Parts: sequence; structure tokens; C-alpha cells
Amino acid sequence: MKIRKFFRGSGRVLAFVFVASVIWLLFDMAALRLSINDVNSQLLKELVVKERAAMKRQATSRTHAPKRLFKHPVEKVPVDLGDIVENAKRLDTNVANVYRRKQKPVFRERTVAGNAAKPKPDSVERSDKKAIENNVLGSLQSVKPLRKDPSLNSTKTVKAAVLDKAKLPKAVTEGIKDVVAKDIGQKAKVQDVKDAAFTKAPPAVQEEERRVVPKGAEDKAVKTGNNMPEEKSKENLKDISNKKASEAAKAGFQQHPKNDTKLEPKPDVQQVAGVLRQADQNSELLNKNDPHPVKTQIQLTLPPKVQKVEPSKAKPTVPVKKPGALHKVMALDVTEKPRDAQAMGQFGHAAVVPKGKEAESQSRWNEGHFNVYLSEQIPIDRSVPDTRPALCSEKMVHDDLPTTSVIFCFVDEVWSTLLRSVHSVLNRSPPHLLKEIILVDDCSTKDNLKEPLDKYMAQFPKVRIIRLKERQGLIRARIAGAAQATGEVLTFLDSHIECNIGWLEPLLERVYVDRRKVACPVIEVISDKDMSYVQVDNFQRGIFKWPLVFGWNTLSEDIIKKNQMKDSDPLRCPVMAGGLFSIDKKYFYELGTYDPGLDVWGGENMEISFKIWMCGGEIEIIPCSRVGHIFRGQNPYKFPKDRQKTVERNLARVAEVWLDEYKELFYGHGYHHLLDKTVIDVGNLTEQIQLRQRLKCKSFKWYLENIYPDMEAPVVKAEGIVFNPGTRKCLALQNTTLVFATCDLSNQNQHFSYTWLRLIKQQGLCVVPHGLANRVSVEPCDPVNANQRWMLNTNKVMAEHIIVESSARRLCLEAGPKGDGIYVKDCFSGNEHQRWQFTNVYAQ
Ligand code: UDP
Ligand code: MN
Repeated sequence: MKIRKFFRGSGRVLAFVFVASVIWLLFDMAALRLSINDVNSQLLKELVVKERAAMKRQATSRTHAPKRLFKHPVEKVPVDLGDIVENAKRLDTNVANVYRRKQKPVFRERTVAGNAAKPKPDSVERSDKKAIENNVLGSLQSVKPLRKDPSLNSTKTVKAAVLDKAKLPKAVTEGIKDVVAKDIGQKAKVQDVKDAAFTKAPPAVQEEERRVVPKGAEDKAVKTGNNMPEEKSKENLKDISNKKASEAAKAGFQQHPKNDTKLEPKPDVQQVAGVLRQADQNSELLNKNDPHPVKTQIQLTLPPKVQKVEPSKAKPTVPVKKPGALHKVMALDVTEKPRDAQAMGQFGHAAVVPKGKEAESQSRWNEGHFNVYLSEQIPIDRSVPDTRPALCSEKMVHDDLPTTSVIFCFVDEVWSTLLRSVHSVLNRSPPHLLKEIILVDDCSTKDNLKEPLDKYMAQFPKVRIIRLKERQGLIRARIAGAAQATGEVLTFLDSHIECNIGWLEPLLERVYVDRRKVACPVIEVISDKDMSYVQVDNFQRGIFKWPLVFGWNTLSEDIIKKNQMKDSDPLRCPVMAGGLFSIDKKYFYELGTYDPGLDVWGGENMEISFKIWMCGGEIEIIPCSRVGHIFRGQNPYKFPKDRQKTVERNLARVAEVWLDEYKELFYGHGYHHLLDKTVIDVGNLTEQIQLRQRLKCKSFKWYLENIYPDMEAPVVKAEGIVFNPGTRKCLALQNTTLVFATCDLSNQNQHFSYTWLRLIKQQGLCVVPHGLANRVSVEPCDPVNANQRWMLNTNKVMAEHIIVESSARRLCLEAGPKGDGIYVKDCFSGNEHQRWQFTNVYAQ
């Protein structure tokens, strides 16, 4: 009835017909648009998607870790040229196999400015969908990883970790406390992570690496325990988490100061594929007022070495920010549809030296200590496989992230790799976040890096070139770049890298969340031999071993499971690898930049890492940010002075400023000679020491206990009373004379230390052979005096014998027959008077 009434008037019928047809038309148009889009994008993407998926599988199946694995900083690794071609062929066959298997490609939609399409349903597991939902909704609960990283299936990895763990005494396996750095929006919770696998290097690479392990650094690693009792360690941990939580709570409601300058990225940014300059032009549109000249000849004006900062100002007042408006991380990639899909090395594939070109390829190796010939054959804007963990493309980041200046320092870099590095930044960074790219030419000698480079870079308004008049070395070159930077965050990169998809926002997000966070991407491997882009294992942290040798350490499956860690979670990292990181510019200056007294290369990653942690900052590896890097066997550039001496001197500076009493561990691991000031001049350290005091930085002991507790670092090798089984008495120091006495643990005169410098020491006095009648006495300790050094023997033969180090004849410390004197005599294994037992032996 009602309906009939409603349609009674013919005008109403007409109106109804009109409205219905309009709706119909709208539906039609939408459907048409969708199908056009679909056809277009589907056609264009098909090849790319296939290639990417195949490459991704290929990359994951060849999991490697970066090459710089406990390579002694001053030793060179020989380069074997012979197998380059063979290797390239082998890798190519692998790629072919991958294609033949015809696996279903994993499709991952690109996202623009938070307007992201959902992943295609058929490519996402059910549990994955749930995980994505959880993530998008900002759930604080941990979700199952979208997919397990194949590298974790490696039984080799697990076995090696278990084996390594078994070797460790309990105290050592107490483990890492704060491995996972939780995302924003979560309570600032510090994970109590224990039982860390402590391997020298990721097991996936151990077998095939031609590593040079530093003298004594390897076998001494697992002998002693951490000197922090478990209970104390737990207490400290609680302290940190409470403090962090309250800090976050206090600061959490502050407004971000930069909210007013919000720039929306252009929605059509994805349509610029294949046009080299396009990314830069886009960014120009977005930053019309960008004042930077195309090319500039800027003279080196180093900033004040250390910016004087009042201690109160050194600590930021608003360390943690309240989450504001968010968008899904952008996956801008101008190379998504590459110009030439068939090009050599495209999609991160391995390139192969063509027949007849082998000799040329080999002869050009030394230009960069990688396959320079192949690098020239592959496009400077090639596409690379998106190797991020699956959750990463769903992660949310803030709309008002700070801008960054990307700083590349280079000296005689290979043209093609330098260009590829720059293009990877231009092509895969959200333009509104990329303030500029600063190329710092550290006084290169190659002609093409002068005018031709100026000309080439003139195409890109965001690129500026700074020319240093004198060779400054990597450290001072970076400082010079920072001094010219106008972005809020400094992002340092090596000049032979390729930034992967979505690399920038996750780094800036961490700095945004807390300006004292220093964010490092996962460093992936661009093969020096065939230029393939190789994904690395997940869950790797940067660590060091003595004598300050950088290396990688994979977290054990146990820790990962116990803490429900996702492969996309940021990892707290005791030491950064060095080359690639983002840091708040002001904070970089508050920290006094790098020690500008460090020369050329080496040790700067230790220096900045200790400084960051000990002076209130944090270092994180961000798995959602990935950058490929060519790891070279040798530095391809010249060192103005001797390479070994330069690196040693840098490390000694770091040890003197930051290691406190632990510096003996550094010198005691093969660097004894650096203590001799007539041999090496480490330069003036006053400013660095003052800086540390001014910033009220914590002790190295604090660093070891809280940031790197699984590092064993007893301050001395042995200590306590020294029992002689032959006399059944203990060594004692009466005034300045060595005597024997009935053992008494509480008697300080009987208390000696056996130090890392191999001195037998009580207070400032050291045991020394006297020369006359083989007698032994004490004299003021002198670490440079080799006569004072003793070897505490731990081998079965002559166990517990103490041998004079400086004598050609094997002389041992021996008690007189009735404890009536102390001598050095020819060593004899059965002689009980030559055995000495310390109460505690921490290291061999
Ligand atoms: N570099 C520099 N001046 C130097 C030494 C190095 O500008 O005296 C640059 C170099 O070109 C590279 C970066 O610093 O872009 C890091 O050096 P390198 O790649 O040799 O370090 P690695 O990756 O081997 O640690
Ligand atoms: Mn490098």
C-alpha cells in the first residue's frame, strides 16, 4: 500500500529512475576504472613480481652475513681472483633453478602514504592476515611472524648455537638483557633476554669465510664467566625497565614540535618508473623552496671539534614522543618497473662476465677490490629484491617524521657504484623526507670524480658535492658532511651501497620516537664477485671481541622463542658496524660528533658506539630497513700513513678514552706494544676525556654489565692468594720484600693479581727477576718493561708454572726449599716448588 502510494505521482517515479541510473552509472565507472587499473598494473607488474619473488627466494636460500667478521682490523685478507668467473656461473645456475621450480610468487602490494592496498588474499596465510590486522590495529601483543625466515630453519645454525652455548660457563650464558627494542606505542619494556647464543660469527657463514682471527681473540673468548652475579643483573634490569617506563610516561603526552609542517607525498609518485631523474624532480616539486645549489665547491670548514654543551642541555628534555598521526610505511621505488628488465644484474641478480671478457674483468678488480667490470655492466638504477620481513610493509610510522640529510663520504670510489648508491637513495626514499644528499669527496685522485661527477650530479637538485682540500679520512670527512647538513637527521652511508625498498622511514621513525636512538639498517651483501644482492640472516647484532674487533652475533632460537621476537623487531646492538646509520643531528653534536683525532679509517664504530651507549643513547638494528653494501677484502684507497699503524693508533685512542680499567684487556690481546709512547703517539686526548666528563657518561663497567653482559671481561686474568704446593705456603709481600707465609685469605699482603699485561702485581709493585743469583724481587710496575712479564702456564705439561717471558732460556718462578727465598730457575715439570695456584683464575 505504502509503496503504491509513494509511486502515485509520476514525478516521483521519474526521480526514482533518475537516482537509480546515477547509482548504476557510478558503479559502472568504478568497475571500469578498476579493471583498467587492473589490466595496466597487472601487465606491468607481472614480470617484475615474478622476478622479484624469484630473486627473493634465491636471495633467502643463500643466506649470508656481512663479510666483516672478526677480521682483525689491521690484517689484510688475500683476494682470490681465480674463482670469480666460476662463482658467477654457479650462482647463475642457482637462479635458473629457482625459475624452473615455478613457485607461486609472493605478491606484496606497494603502499603510498598510508593509503595502502591490502596484500592479495591468496598470497597471505590465514595466520598472516591475523598478524597484519593485529599490527594495523596497533595491538601491543606480539603476533606470530608472518613467515619464518628460512635461515632459521638451518639446523646448522641451531646446532652451532647450542654447541657454542655448551662450551660456555654458566655466568657467560646469562645472556643479553635488552635484545629487543620494542616499538613505539608499546610500554618501554626491557626484555629480559637470557641464554644468548654467543657465536663468533653467524654460523651460516662460518664455514665458508676466510676469516683472520686475531691473535688470542678467538680461544680466549669462552673461558671465563661474567663477573656480574645473576641476581644483581636482574636487579639492574628491573631498574632500567622501571626508569624507562616512567620516562616514557612522563614524556608521552608532549606534543611533537614539528606537527605544523606536514607534507603529503604525491599520490602519483609510483608512476615515474624508469625515468632516472624523476624521483629527484618530484622531490623538487615537493620542496620548491629548497635552497641548495646544484653543485658547490665548499672548502672544508670543520665544525668546532666538540660543541660545548652544558651538561643539563646534553640530556634531551623530551626523549620519548607521543604517537601522533600514523601511516603505513611507504614502499616508494622508482625502479619497481625497471627500464630494462633484461639488463645484467637487474633485480639484484648475479651478473656474469661474458666470454672473452674475463681478463678485463680481472684486471679491473683492483680499482675497487670488487668486480668493477660487472658493476659497470649493470644498470645504475637497477631493481633489487624486497628482502624485508613480511610484517614490515604493514608497519605504521608517523606522518611528521624528521627530514634527513644523507651523507656519502668517498675517496676514489668506483664511478658506477657511487652513482648506484646515490640513485638508490633518490629512487627509494620518500622525497619529502630526503632533504639532500651530500657527497663528501675526501680528496679523491680519480679525474672522473671531479668535473664529470659535478656535471652528472647537476641533474639532481638535491645532490650537493663537498670537496675536501686535503685527505681527511672517513671520520673527519663525515664530520665535514654533517657540518653542511640541513636535515634534522644525519644518515651516513658508504659510497658502494644500494638502499632497499622502504629503507628510510623505519630508521627515521626510531629517531623520532627517541632522539637518542641511533638507528642502523640491516646491512645486506652485494657480492663483490658477481654484484648479486644477497639477503642476510635475521636476528644478528653487532658486537665486539678483544682487542676491539667487530663481529656479528646471531641470537639463539631459544631467545627468539622465549621472547616471542618477531623478525621485524628492532634489536638493541652493543656495537654498530659503522658505515650506515641515522642519528639526530643535534644529538650527534651533543655527543661531540666523532673523535676528530681518529685518522682515515678504523675504530670509529667502536668510538661512537661506546659513546652513544655510555652517554645515554641507544643503538638499534632495524630489520625493516635494509641496505646492501659491497664488502671488500681490502681497502681500495691509499692510507696516507702506514695502514696498520693508523688503525692501531685509532683503537688505542678509543681504549684510552672509553675503556677505563678494561683497557688492559685491549692491550693484553696483542697490542702490548701500543703502550710504549716512543713507538706510537696517540695524540692529545684531553678534549675527549673532558667531553666524557662533561656528558657525565657512565663507566665501561656499566656498559659491559648492562649493554653487553654476555661479553666476558674479567679485569684481571687471575687474582687472590698464591699458594705454592712445594712449600705449602703462600707468597706475601712484607714491606717491599717477597716472603712466604702461612696462607691467610684475609691478609691483603698475600693478595696478588695476574693482569692482562701479564704482570704479577700487588698495589703498584710488580714481581720481577732480579738478575743477581736468580733472585726475584718487586719494583714499581711498568707495563712497557717486558722484564716484568710472566706467563702463567695452563697447559698440562708444567701446569701452574710461571715462566719468565723475556728470557730466551725457559726460566720458572721457584720457591726456595723451605720457603726461604724466591728464584727463577730452569723449568722442570715435576717440580712442586715451581707450581703456583691463584685463588681465582678467570682467563688463560
Ligand atoms: N672513506 C673516505 N675517506 C677515507 C676512507 C674511506 O671518505 O679516508 C669512505 C669510503 O669511500 C667509504 C666509506 O668512507 O665510502 C667507508 O669506507 P670503507 O667502505 O672502506 O669501509 P668498510 O666498509 O670497509 O668498513
Ligand atoms: Mn664500505
